[in-house]
Amino acid sequence: MKLFFAFSLLALTASAGANVKIQEELFVPGKNPAIVKDLVDTGSVIIDHVTSEGFELYGSKGLSKYLDSKKIVYLNMKEINEKVLADYPSSAEIAQKLQAAAAKYPHIMRLMNIGKSVKGKDLLVMKISDNVARDEVEPEFKYISSMHGDEITGRELTVSLIEEIGEKYGRDSEITELVNNTEIFIMPSMNPDGSDLKQRANANWSDLNRNFPDMIRDTQSSPNGRQIEVQHVMKFQGERQFSLSANFHGGTIVANYPWDSKYDAHPLEDLVKELSTQYAELNPEMRNSREFPGGITNGAEWYVVRGGMQDWSYVWHNDLQITVELSHTKWPAYRDIPGFYKDNRDSMVHYMKAVHRGAGIKFSRSNVSGSVSIRQVGPVARDLGSYAFKGSEFYKVLPDGEYTFSVQEKGTSKASAYNVRVEKNLIRANGNYLQLN
Ligand SMILES: [Zn+2]
Repeated sequence: MKLFFAFSLLALTASAGANVKIQEELFVPGKNPAIVKDLVDTGSVIIDHVTSEGFELYGSKGLSKYLDSKKIVYLNMKEINEKVLADYPSSAEIAQKLQAAAAKYPHIMRLMNIGKSVKGKDLLVMKISDNVARDEVEPEFKYISSMHGDEITGRELTVSLIEEIGEKYGRDSEITELVNNTEIFIMPSMNPDGSDLKQRANANWSDLNRNFPDMIRDTQSSPNGRQIEVQHVMKFQGERQFSLSANFHGGTIVANYPWDSKYDAHPLEDLVKELSTQYAELNPEMRNSREFPGGITNGAEWYVVRGGMQDWSYVWHNDLQITVELSHTKWPAYRDIPGFYKDNRDSMVHYMKAVHRGAGIKFSRSNVSGSVSIRQVGPVARDLGSYAFKGSEFYKVLPDGEYTFSVQEKGTSKASAYNVRVEKNLIRANGNYLQLN
């Protein structure tokens, strides 16, 4: 489709995907993989949620005029969104709900503010754990939602999840066991400005899920020149030891596993597929998807994303992340939110529990750093790479099996090897860590 190349070069500023200004939000109905591929290749528009019904197209001012001139039919999503959105809480009201939960359940919840958005709104993360004021050595899990401001379902569902955990802690054995043995971090809104402006981008017209360091384009994970919301999340991630996470979006219903940026298989592909399938299986609409068999998809096979959070979190932080698309419409009617929560509640809880499917080491001495080389032993013997650790702890989510962890402490020549075992559906007290001196 040559016309799209012509358009990208003449009508739009030629720019890398990371710098595309999102001032127009359109939906192009119909299925046309050739157009989609060519548009992605131009790097001057952003495409999202390609399904048999059509695809979303984002770009700077002039995009719709261009489509008009080519007689390409489209819908203006922002106009549609404005109407439905009126019923939703503002980001200030979401912040109040989180403050109320932290005040009501202070024994297990602590509201953290990890920085401010472009327009000065707090970026809030709820920490949930027993001994919540202390930083314990326990597997660390996180949910981040609504980095696309108009994909609002996940913001509501994560707030509902926080409230349910507060109510059920001490009464429901599954929730209690999870909270006691895990450090859970939930960020319902990574882009409060975008949600209040009823748009995908942040207040600088930037797509936050194209703004992270990219495993192909970037040689290091540097915050320089990135959007402020991305910088805050990068810093937050760097200070923690997350090993499993998910980020919530909307626009279709599917669990999307890495990689997003390249077609190669992920080193733990069987595991990420299984975890995605587990999420989908507990959600009736996802499981029965006609668009995505089994309710899951590989990211790049669906459409390539450069500078996304999912790949970044694993490449630079050993934090396995999937992307969950929660609703066909980005803004379903607000009264339908309880139904979406019902559909996703079990998936969300079981996915959090999966952080215990892993193994780690912890030292009784403080400030130990170094690296751990992991080899799976037994019938599927394979090397799984080497990982740096700091702060006297290391933990990695892994498929079931037996492993050798070869631990090299920084500043010493001594390497020690330990055998560890990973089993699913088993939550050990404060996680499956080997205590070292
Ligand atoms: Zn999204």
